[in-house]
Amino acid sequence: MTKNVIELNSPINILPGVGEKKAKLFHKLGLRSMKDLLYYFPRDYEDWSERHSITEAADSQWFTIEAVVSAVPTVQLKGRLSIIRAKLEQNGAFITAVWFNQPWIKDSLKAGSSYVFHGQVSRRGKQISLQNPQYIIAGKADFLFRPIYPLTQGLTQYDLRRVTALALSSLKNRQEDPLPSSLRKDYKLCTLEYALEHIHFPKTKQDIHLSRERLGFDELFLLQMGLRLIKLRHKEQIVSPIIKGNKDVDDKLQKWVQSLPYELTGAQNQAIADIEHDFKQGKSINSLIQGDVGSGKTVVAAYAVAYTSWCGYQAVFMAPTSILAKQHFQTLIDLYSDTDLELALLTGETKKSEREIILKGLIEGSIDVLIGTHAVLEETVKYNNLGLCIIDEQHRFGVEQRARLGEFSGNGLFPHVLVMSATPIPRTLALIIYGDLDITLLQEKPPGRLPVATYTAREKDRPRVERLLLKRMENKEQAYVVCPMIEDSSQQDLESATGIYNYLSQKVFPDRNIALLHGKLSARAKSAIMADFNSGLTDILVTTTVIEVGVDNPNATMMVIENAERFGLAQLHQLRGRIGRGTKESLCVLMSESDDPKARNRLTALCSSNDGFVIAEEDLKLRGPGDFFGIKQHGLPEFKIVNLYEDRDLILKTNEAVEKILHADPKLEQVENRKLLPFITERLKLNPEPVL
Ligand code: ADP
Ligand code: MG
Repeated sequence: MTKNVIELNSPINILPGVGEKKAKLFHKLGLRSMKDLLYYFPRDYEDWSERHSITEAADSQWFTIEAVVSAVPTVQLKGRLSIIRAKLEQNGAFITAVWFNQPWIKDSLKAGSSYVFHGQVSRRGKQISLQNPQYIIAGKADFLFRPIYPLTQGLTQYDLRRVTALALSSLKNRQEDPLPSSLRKDYKLCTLEYALEHIHFPKTKQDIHLSRERLGFDELFLLQMGLRLIKLRHKEQIVSPIIKGNKDVDDKLQKWVQSLPYELTGAQNQAIADIEHDFKQGKSINSLIQGDVGSGKTVVAAYAVAYTSWCGYQAVFMAPTSILAKQHFQTLIDLYSDTDLELALLTGETKKSEREIILKGLIEGSIDVLIGTHAVLEETVKYNNLGLCIIDEQHRFGVEQRARLGEFSGNGLFPHVLVMSATPIPRTLALIIYGDLDITLLQEKPPGRLPVATYTAREKDRPRVERLLLKRMENKEQAYVVCPMIEDSSQQDLESATGIYNYLSQKVFPDRNIALLHGKLSARAKSAIMADFNSGLTDILVTTTVIEVGVDNPNATMMVIENAERFGLAQLHQLRGRIGRGTKESLCVLMSESDDPKARNRLTALCSSNDGFVIAEEDLKLRGPGDFFGIKQHGLPEFKIVNLYEDRDLILKTNEAVEKILHADPKLEQVENRKLLPFITERLKLNPEPVL
């Protein structure tokens, strides 16, 4: 028989003892190839490294002893049940090992020989025994940490250990190490082969540590390098229009800034200067404006839009929801009221006839600025001369999507892109999630903003909360009441917007204007309700998270969030960001009956800070391992080893490593660096795959 050569991508059933049936079980765990096996990491280890003494055995303790089988094991049959007992001796002390229904054990243990046993102790009076222990011949016991894998019905730890060991030995010395050896040396990393072998079968705790360090380094390094290469490639290959002003444009801008109802903050001025500088340099802009809720990102974007338009290019402003698109449209109409700029609004709800007029205006160039939802990027929307795309984002605007922009810009060039973040994220995370963007920080809020006083409350406090709402209304201020659901449900005991609306409008405040807003209403109804609320006609807006992002009514100064435990920290911060937008002191009440400590921690974090960056850090910490903090949502590949909160030092380290390599070899032309490319492409797994 010829022996199959086993490669990284060989199917799992190439291994002896893995038939079709077993293979199917492995497939259930996502394990199809040798490579899948190598990268299926243990979730924990059985620790056999510490040796115990029989005299110290305590009930139900996990116990590892080296002992001699002092007599031939006995077999007792009880109906269909078989019980094997073996007396074990250690320095004159005895313990009995007991196995149920494993008759073969009798012949595998030799009286007089020494073994290492690992099992759970049972103490019944004077009787002590070791239940179903595993064992290995003493002296051969060099794998003292035995991997524990996540399993599926029908597979055992033994199966996983066996195939993983086989895969490792079949591929020995045949795996390429992606990292240049100099890098490995600089960061004191073991080889990939060592890491893969020892993450599965460590001999010491140090082995586990070293292997994780190396594999975690790869996860981050390859991803960050990939994102940086995409960024560089964009800078080189993507040609955007050169938007250069002249004196006339500068004068117009200056006049426009002076006409604004407020002074720009230092941070806003700085961001504007940065953008203008990039424009004038003829660079292709692809940046993120990171700022907390209410930091005033919109006007920065509006500046860039005006600049672009006055230089003769069109701009498009994209929002995640139609409510927000309409609001931006209104805001921009106000901001540009004294200018000659032509604006249009296009959402999925725009009537066909109107849509046609807009499309015509765009291709002819009579419309300067288009505001809308993702409808603005449909293929049928063609521009005359598109220069700038603003994205008020919730989700990642993919590399691929941007590439498409070039196809219908009307000038064959890629528009400049400015992304406005919806929520602040910790810096280390920004390095990953936005690794392909330049980042502009808006760290200062407009002056006079008071932090939103935030408290938790329980059901028994409801009358007090209602008195507080009344006080706001008497002051001609407005409020939001946010609920986790639209309607009552028999399955969940949560406050619904409809339920609370009925309660407030009929029972509590029958003389006041209470309105109900949620995502299931027609577009027209939603606009009418928002318009009434923004004009001050509505006192209390009962709503769902449709108002989460960006809605801006400075006269709304109180928010009650029902079942606050149902929301994530970042989301609560976003919601709260709808108030505290004017100069009056605002109040946020988090209603929750929950005693779940995790939920309580989130609410406390919110009560103790108004700073989105602090809250983002806290969020990352509270979510703990296993939650990728929007990584998946942002279309990035997952992490198996790295924990984005705990491994922040590693993120900085790998980031530095990326910079170092690119500094010396920006195009990865050196042989050692060139070898990185296939590994990076594989790690990025972006769709469609970027050409690096
Ligand atoms: P966000 O960064 O959350 O998108 P917005 O752009 O919606 O914030 O701005 C929040 C509020 O602050 C708006 O009402 C806006 O008019 C106001 N604003 C923006 N810049 C300033 C400023 N420099 N001074 C005073 N108010 C400002
Ligand atoms: Mg905004």
